[in-house]
Amino acid sequence: MINLNTEIQFLKGVGEKRAQLFNSELDIYTVEDLLYFFPYKYIDKSKVLKINELHSALNFSVQIKGRISNIETVGMGRAQRLVAQLTDHTGSIQLVWFKGIKWVKASLKTGVEYMVFGKPTLFNGKFNITHPELELLSSFDASTGITPQYSISEKLKHQFITSKVIEKLTASVLKNHFHIRDYHTEDFLKKHRLLDLSQTLIHIHFPKNQHFQKAAEYRIKFDELFFIQLKLLLKKKIQKNTNQGHVLSKIGSYFNNYYANHLQFELTNAQKRVIKEIRADVKTGQQMNRLLQGDVGSGKTLVALFSMLMAIDNGYQAAMMAPTEVLAKQHYDSLKKDIEAIGLKIHLLTGSTKQSERKLIHKDLLSGEGHIVVGTHALIEDTVQFKNLALVVIDEQHRFGVAQRAKFWSKNTIPPHILIMTATPIPRTLSMTLYGDLDVSVIDELPPGRKSIITQHFYETQQARINKFIREQIQLGRQIYVVYPLIKESEKLDYKALEEGFWTLHEDFPPPKYAISIVHGKIKPQDKEIEMQKFIKGHTHIMVATTVIEVGVNVPNASVMIIESAERFGLSQLHQLRGRVGRGAEQSYCILKTSYKLSKDSRTRIEAMLKSTDGFELAEIDLQLRGPGNIEGTQQSGVPLEFKKANLATDQTILSVARAAAEQILLSDPQLQLKEHQPIRDIIKNKYSSKINWSKIG
Ligand code: ADP
Ligand code: MG
Repeated sequence: MINLNTEIQFLKGVGEKRAQLFNSELDIYTVEDLLYFFPYKYIDKSKVLKINELHSALNFSVQIKGRISNIETVGMGRAQRLVAQLTDHTGSIQLVWFKGIKWVKASLKTGVEYMVFGKPTLFNGKFNITHPELELLSSFDASTGITPQYSISEKLKHQFITSKVIEKLTASVLKNHFHIRDYHTEDFLKKHRLLDLSQTLIHIHFPKNQHFQKAAEYRIKFDELFFIQLKLLLKKKIQKNTNQGHVLSKIGSYFNNYYANHLQFELTNAQKRVIKEIRADVKTGQQMNRLLQGDVGSGKTLVALFSMLMAIDNGYQAAMMAPTEVLAKQHYDSLKKDIEAIGLKIHLLTGSTKQSERKLIHKDLLSGEGHIVVGTHALIEDTVQFKNLALVVIDEQHRFGVAQRAKFWSKNTIPPHILIMTATPIPRTLSMTLYGDLDVSVIDELPPGRKSIITQHFYETQQARINKFIREQIQLGRQIYVVYPLIKESEKLDYKALEEGFWTLHEDFPPPKYAISIVHGKIKPQDKEIEMQKFIKGHTHIMVATTVIEVGVNVPNASVMIIESAERFGLSQLHQLRGRVGRGAEQSYCILKTSYKLSKDSRTRIEAMLKSTDGFELAEIDLQLRGPGNIEGTQQSGVPLEFKKANLATDQTILSVARAAAEQILLSDPQLQLKEHQPIRDIIKNKYSSKINWSKIG
């Protein structure tokens, strides 16, 4: 009797040698692996096209019946290929192979009838099919209808392990009718209208019809997303229950004083809502782990300030960490006046803080005399100790790893509440997966009265017009950013383009009338700081930079953002850069400069930028264009974003349903203790390699 755990080598017709190929080439070790090796497409074998009907099927996979003749090798070197003629009673087409020529040539038979599968393409006015799959008509089983096609490496094909072999093996396993126990209960399946597991596995390989194929695919996608969500929700529960948090029970005089006497404008409704959400979290006695998403300029800093004041009103300290010195300094500068005005002490601690001053700060933080500290990574060094740190704000978290976050926890017996802020809008499906173990708040509203930024597309050849515009803006007293892409793979060339761009600008805008700053990763931190300050203070007119200025930098008088080689940036990055302007009262502009030739995707990105200023909308388009794995801020997450079937860009509805289903289960059975949930619990334990401490869930 075979079961899911049976090793592949014991299946009839496999054996040790083939089993090794299955292992190494396809990662298939057991019967279960085989059943979860899904076809990438299906062919309807009941439909056979005649060669003179091919025009209607251009670019679709088809089946043609015919005889092969004129097999010959043509071309030389890399252009060498094998061609053969396939003929039926309506006409003939060419079959072409670029790889495995020797092997194909040896195995092709002339004169006999073949069934041929593949995608016809039009080349020089004639149809051909490259790398078709062939089967002798004598061994072809037309009664099977829709048949699966498996993705097979050339190496396997050479060892005669074809898609057909997998198909037969899978069929024989499934026909064995061994019992595949479902891990979901019948109630659950019914409630969520899911096919049971046996049916699912049968129909994902051998769908009876399109309806069953869709149903099987749905169940597989559902499960892929369901287990990830279940795991994340368990993690979140454990975090909540294990991590005691400081009880920030009251809103006190600092908060009220700031609100009543120092706030220069009305908070937006979104800001108020998020402050309430944070307030509700921090008074419970459980540690807060909250992600605050808000587009550039949406006013996250104020939310951070009010959160920190909650900590201080209850007798605790607060910290704010930024990814770069420039940003830390900027936060410090913008908070200092207000914080000191209400009688609190704030410090700035970064890598370049002088040793003597550092000592003072350390002392202040340990004694509790320092209320708020703003800084960089320097904050998580072991030498930094607090008297009673209750809340940490982390700006632009995707630059900090989880491990670094955890470092804050060891600074006190009770870990501080964590508020992570990001201006990279992440589509809901992604944030549900990436940050499924965090609570999420969103500021989805900009402060009133912002002029929307005018975005324009120019080609490189239109530099004269751009210069004219720069001149006009400087005349009006405005400042200009010019940003160059910098990509690891092409770093040398990119720096060259940046330098050349700088010198060209220098010629077009010569001193003493004009002053230009330049900032990039190869400049010493101190010099960078000097250049930044020059620009912030308005002493320089143009800032030439790489994307170092992407996050957070705030110069309200800068009203023009020129993005060089804009086609090389991702959408969310373009949007981030654009967010550097439009921070003051003046009308602002974003100029996207590109080369004349643009790929389809680049053009879509540029057009999206011209059309929309909504970060969430743009992030959604980016997700559709590039897939979840390539979206900014997702790379180091460690959370799986690619699945066998589910796709975070297109399966948003399934994700919502699966998450809700996972939530429901945990509501009725938080530790998955019920007997009926044992199988699910086992899967989480065994396949999702999560170190779940069940006793902490309760
Ligand atoms: P971000 O979310 O990008 O960090 P900031 O917190 O830097 O945005 O805020 C951008 C600008 O908007 C700041 O100059 C800030 O003072 C201002 N601002 C914040 N909230 C409001 C509001 N409710 N009304 C008007 N201006 C606001
Ligand atoms: Mg900010």
